[in-house]
Amino acid sequence: MNLSGVRIVLVGTTHPGNIGATARAMANMGLGDLRLVEPRVFPSPEATARAAGADAVLENARVYKELHEAVADCTYVVGATARRRSIGWPLLEPQAAAAALFEMQAGGPVALVFGREASGLANQELDHCQAHVRIPVCADFSSLNLATAVAILVYELHKTARPEQALAPAADGNGAEEPPLATVAEIDRFMVHLGEVLEKTGFLGSARTRLLRKLRRLFTRTPLQQEEVNILRGILTSVEQYGAKRKGNFGE
Ligand code: SAH
Repeated sequence: MNLSGVRIVLVGTTHPGNIGATARAMANMGLGDLRLVEPRVFPSPEATARAAGADAVLENARVYKELHEAVADCTYVVGATARRRSIGWPLLEPQAAAAALFEMQAGGPVALVFGREASGLANQELDHCQAHVRIPVCADFSSLNLATAVAILVYELHKTARPEQALAPAADGNGAEEPPLATVAEIDRFMVHLGEVLEKTGFLGSARTRLLRKLRRLFTRTPLQQEEVNILRGILTSVEQYGAKRKGNFGE
């Protein structure tokens, strides 16, 4: 699923540059539905300049007199607020807000609402939202620029939506399937095999357990493919065979 059901609403924006920068960030992150409630100036050359090519988002932007008109058809609305307290409403972290918006868009349009540069969203406007989201910032310099707040939150949305894209068929159009990954049981068997071989070579000394744990960490840092584990097992077998051919106890 993409983010086409997620709408960005800017309320009472004073600086047209922030509208342009919002359009740009939206286009960067795959969003296109921008609504403006009582912008001071719109359209404006400054907004177009700051959109840096995201003109389509500005051209399609619709203007309203009141917030409730801009979100009338939405099934879920989240208000972005710089304030720490949001009495009575869930105050979400950005990641949780993005996940909720992404999930809820399946049931109809959803909106993420931003307030005025100087005074944010009025209490009555915040009451129009089912939840509020606050970006955690440094307490001693906590004021975020409006378009910066938009960029951070639309990035969270993009991150939430991306796993679906990663599962899409390969871009080459051949639909080539990813090679199967090794299971935990296969990694376990490999680790046992590795332990046996390192025992025989004498590599494992007194710190046996610690070393094997470190090696397990190494081999589980990246998901290994079944074929890769088979290659590693093959290397271990060849070491065993080599040792068995030599005189001494190796291979027993
Ligand atoms: N002094 C205002 C700040 C307005 S900044 C206030 O008290 O609310 C303009 C808009 O950017 C805010 O209304 C909000 O939508 C968004 N914003 C700014 N900082 C934010 C933050 N830390 N978390 C979420 N949204 C933020």
